[in-house]
Amino acid sequence: MNQGERQDRAVGAVVGSAVGDALGAPFEFGPAGVYTTRFPDGMGEMCGGGGWDPGEATDDTQMAVLVGESLLERDGLDPAEMFGRFRRWAAGEPKDIGLQTEYVLTSGDPWDLAAALHFQVNGRAAGNGSLMRAATSAVYFARTDGPEPAARAATMDAARRIAALTHGDQAAWEGTAVLHDLIRVALNGDDPLTAVPGALAAIRDDRRERWATVLAPDWHPGLATEFNGAVWPCLGTAVWALRTTHTFEAALAAAIDAGGDTDTVAAVTGGLAGAVYGSGAIPSRWTEPLHVPLPGYGGRVLRAAQLAALARRLDSHRP
Ligand SMILES: [Mg+2]
Repeated sequence: MNQGERQDRAVGAVVGSAVGDALGAPFEFGPAGVYTTRFPDGMGEMCGGGGWDPGEATDDTQMAVLVGESLLERDGLDPAEMFGRFRRWAAGEPKDIGLQTEYVLTSGDPWDLAAALHFQVNGRAAGNGSLMRAATSAVYFARTDGPEPAARAATMDAARRIAALTHGDQAAWEGTAVLHDLIRVALNGDDPLTAVPGALAAIRDDRRERWATVLAPDWHPGLATEFNGAVWPCLGTAVWALRTTHTFEAALAAAIDAGGDTDTVAAVTGGLAGAVYGSGAIPSRWTEPLHVPLPGYGGRVLRAAQLAALARRLDSHRP
């Protein structure tokens, strides 16, 4: 595969995730089938609603941009600096922010303790909030050269460290690590579905069984044992949406039709499907209205072209 194709997939992952986020946001907490009911002809639009303008991306994409820009400006993972960016953003009063993420970012605790302390106090920290922002870091760390096991280990380890900034539960770390690896495989031009067993083998022994359940070839959202705001059914639904469809558009429709935390499930699905199908598969009727406000950053708003430029820089950089 040539570099142009690879770059197109990288742009697909980052813009695809943002598009999924913005497309799914108006349907958050809706019932199953909500997208198809609204768009029976399959030609879904950026419709806005629920407090979101048409094409407006939510916290998922806003945090993904912060992750990507931190990696580029610090020339690698500087967790304290990335956490500082998250904090500045949270203080800018974003329209939406996950409960757990908000608690950790506004606690005043130091970056290397805040998430662990939250987990200690609450006992539950396996929300999908570290999964939702992973498209940018997945593109960046997919670039590690070297043999397969080393490339897989490098991206999965980076994913765990970024997830740990806001999520103390290792279930969230491992799920984010799996997503990083599936996007890495897709950017190489290979089928991420065939890479699931390899990624599962690379996660912690005591976390594997639950992940193996939701990533099994016969799993579907109807089998979920918790709300898809949790990390397991969120990634499970994204992988299921990819597995059971054949286009970028159809994958997002399936993801949003699953209902629940539709912006995040669609953001994760869009990142994966975008890496598989490339940016050319993303309809312009979705990228044209797409915009990503960055609260806390002086009214900055990124459009699709700027997200694509960010993706290209993340892809061409070698960590
Ligand atoms: Mg969101």
